[in-house]
Order: sequence, then structure tokens, then C-alpha cells
Amino acid sequence: MPGLAEAGYLTNETLFQLTEQPRRLAVIGGGPIGAEMAQTFARLGTDVTIFMRDDSFLPKEDREAAAVVEAAFRRDGVQFLYGADLREVMLTETGKVLHYQQAGQSGQLEVDAILVSIGRVPNVESLNLEAAGVAYTERGVTVDDTLRTSNPHIFAAGDVALKYQFTHMADAATRIVLQNALFPGPKKKLSNLVVPGRPTPTRRWPMWACTPTKPKPRGSPMKSSASH
Ligand SMILES: Cc1cc2nc3c(=O)[nH]c(=O)nc-3n(C[C@H](O)[C@H](O)[C@H](O)COP(=O)(O)OP(=O)(O)OC[C@H]3O[C@@H](n4cnc5c(N)ncnc54)[C@H](O)[C@@H]3O)c2cc1C
Repeated sequence: MPGLAEAGYLTNETLFQLTEQPRRLAVIGGGPIGAEMAQTFARLGTDVTIFMRDDSFLPKEDREAAAVVEAAFRRDGVQFLYGADLREVMLTETGKVLHYQQAGQSGQLEVDAILVSIGRVPNVESLNLEAAGVAYTERGVTVDDTLRTSNPHIFAAGDVALKYQFTHMADAATRIVLQNALFPGPKKKLSNLVVPGRPTPTRRWPMWACTPTKPKPRGSPMKSSASH
């Protein structure tokens, strides 16, 4: 985006090195990580605005749950700009000004810091996976249901190989890899996992990632837990 690099921006890697609290923060992206950071800063007293290009907050989550989270965020003072197409960032004497288009209208917002939270990408190019015969795409290392790569001696787990990028998914996948790589017998399969989940900022509104669009757990009725 024109001007963003010159104005300076934060990512999930640099955010935690801040030594001063920004008075005004723009969060670009309405996914779980941006949301988590938005809520945290709002509760610390920062004026937070979340910019989203599309019309849905927490777009991968259950719509009813996302609406509950959004209402809670609004109570915390977080502002939402839906359908906001960011065009340019300008550095001024008083801050960083984000210029955007929303519903055909031009708008601008001045902030002290910008957090870019529009997703992470796998970092595999430098590994020379071609030499090992390990196939990958721009989404990461390609694995089968047993987490084996195209080289049968090499497995992959974690964000670089999984659709759902969560700590507990990485943990569960690593256990599958250990079983399948080191022990004989039937292979464990990723598709057999039933994984509870929730958007990270919703600690007070636990939910399962078992919505009408996703399979429900087999066996006992669903329960919720507020623990991490
Ligand atoms: C801000 C933030 C908040 C999050 N909050 C939550 C949460 O509340 N709950 C949750 O479940 N998940 C959360 N996640 C997601 C979670 O962190 C990841 O799903 C998890 O860390 C994945 O583990 P991993 O081992 O696959 O990858 P990582 O933890 O990212 O580890 C990958 C490692 O590989 C190294 N590496 C990368 N490229 C190379 C290379 N070419 N050569 C050598 N080393 C390399 C990296 O430096 C890193 O040490 C969050 C993520 C972020 C960014």
C-alpha cells in the first residue's frame, strides 16, 4: 500500500517490542489475531479501529459467535470500519493518516500506530525443498492425511502444513507425525481429529469449532470450557 512502509507499521512480531502505548491504533484485518490485539489495546485505553476490506468480522468463525464478540468489542470501545478499501497512508506531523474508500465515499483516519494483521505466509523458499523432493505451494508444505510429504521419509506438522493455524492443531499434528514416523502399525490420520477451538479473543465466550458448517463431535454432547 502506498506510504505504508514510509509511515511505519507493526506486525505480530514487532508489536511486542513497543515501549510506549499508542494513543490511537489502526488494526488492518479482522481475523482472530488482529482482534485479540485490538481488544487488548482497547482495554489498555487505546482508541482502536479495525479496518476490514470485507463485510465480516472474524470471517472464518460462526456468524452468531462473531456477532457476540463484536458486540463485546464495541462495549470495550473498539470501532469497526467494514468494507474499507485502504488506498494510502500518509505520515504527518501529528500521526499516520489512513486514506480509504468505503461505500463510494472517501474517508481518512489519523492514528499513532498501525498493526498489519492480514495473515501470515509460510517461509519455505529458502529450504530448497525441491532437492529433497518435498512438494509445496504458496500455502505451505503439501501433506497427505497421515502428514507425510511427497518424500515418504519426511513429514510435516504445524502452521506450515495445516489449514487451521493454532497451537493445539500444531500439537495434535506433531503427535500424529511422531506416531506415523516412528512406530509401525496403522497410521494415524489428521481427518480423524475432533478439535475444539474458538477465536482467541473470546475467552469469556468459549465455543467449539463445530458449527453447522463443520462436523460435530462424535459421541457425548458438546461441552464448553473456559480454560485455554
Ligand atoms: C500473535 C499471535 C497470536 C496467536 N495466538 C494464538 C492463540 O491464542 N491460540 C492458538 O492456538 N494459536 C495462536 N496463534 C497461532 C500459533 O502461534 C501457531 O499456530 C503455532 O505457533 C504454530 O506452531 P508451529 O510450530 O507450526 O510454528 P511457529 O510457532 O511459527 O514456529 C515455526 C518456527 O520455525 C522457524 N522458521 C521459520 N522459517 C524457517 C526457516 N526457513 N528455517 C528455519 N526455521 C524457520 C520460526 O522462526 C519459528 O521458530 C497465534 C499466532 C500469533 C502470530
